[in-house]
Amino acid sequence: MRPISDYHMHTPLCGHATGEPAEYARHAVKMGLSEIGFSDHAPLVAYFDPKVSMRLDQLPLYYRMIEKAQTEFKPQLTIKVGIEADFIPGYENKTKEILADYPYDYVIGSVHFIDDWGFDNPEERKKWEKENIDKVYRKYYELLRRSAQSGLFDIMAHVDLVKKFGHRSTESMAEEVKKTAKVFKECGVAVEINTSGLRKPVKEMYPEKSLLQIYQQAGVPLAFGSDAHDPLDVGKDFDKAYALAREVGYGEYVLFKKRKIERKIKI
Ligand SMILES: [Zn+2]
Ligand SMILES: [Zn+2]
Repeated sequence: MRPISDYHMHTPLCGHATGEPAEYARHAVKMGLSEIGFSDHAPLVAYFDPKVSMRLDQLPLYYRMIEKAQTEFKPQLTIKVGIEADFIPGYENKTKEILADYPYDYVIGSVHFIDDWGFDNPEERKKWEKENIDKVYRKYYELLRRSAQSGLFDIMAHVDLVKKFGHRSTESMAEEVKKTAKVFKECGVAVEINTSGLRKPVKEMYPEKSLLQIYQQAGVPLAFGSDAHDPLDVGKDFDKAYALAREVGYGEYVLFKKRKIERKIKI
């Protein structure tokens, strides 16, 4: 069994993904999905890096590319328009402005930066050697909570991304995650099972089982995403993601439309 939807995939506009939207859609159909959503990296608000995100003036092209695929794949495949935006403290208003540019079906919130450090960027990996890993983990969870509280996002992405290169905290983070799950529930954001962790050095789902269980127990809604940066990764390992959701006790997952939960689907 697999979920019917994949809400996390990219386009070449972000500068580090390949394949046109139609190619992602075609692979989605092949994988038996009936709904996908694009969620490319929104223009960065603090600075611009062509290898990280699209430019502000490329947003209209982004919508046009997806709308073209929507027309082409109707009615076989429903294609939603989402976007993945970074949470950068101090830039909430600028982020809000960018997100108001289009009637998105959902906005995925991500924490990829701790202060100015792109901690999951392979080019900035060396900085890990100088850091206190427990402190990094705590800062990361604090930023996740602040992201949810900002009200900017509907789904929180890869909620244990700090483990990407295999750096593990020595102290248990269970209490941090419990606090985070409680905030997610209060703020009404969903959590995603993101299968891309299996393709990264850590080789684990984001989030791992014991953490996903905490979100389930807190009553946080669930969505599925492959975080595909290549059409062939759409729906990848979704059988495993589905089994994981079931294992921790999730009885349903959610679909979004115009930034509201549109439908709940039984697991
Ligand atoms: Zn990316
Ligand atoms: Zn992504």
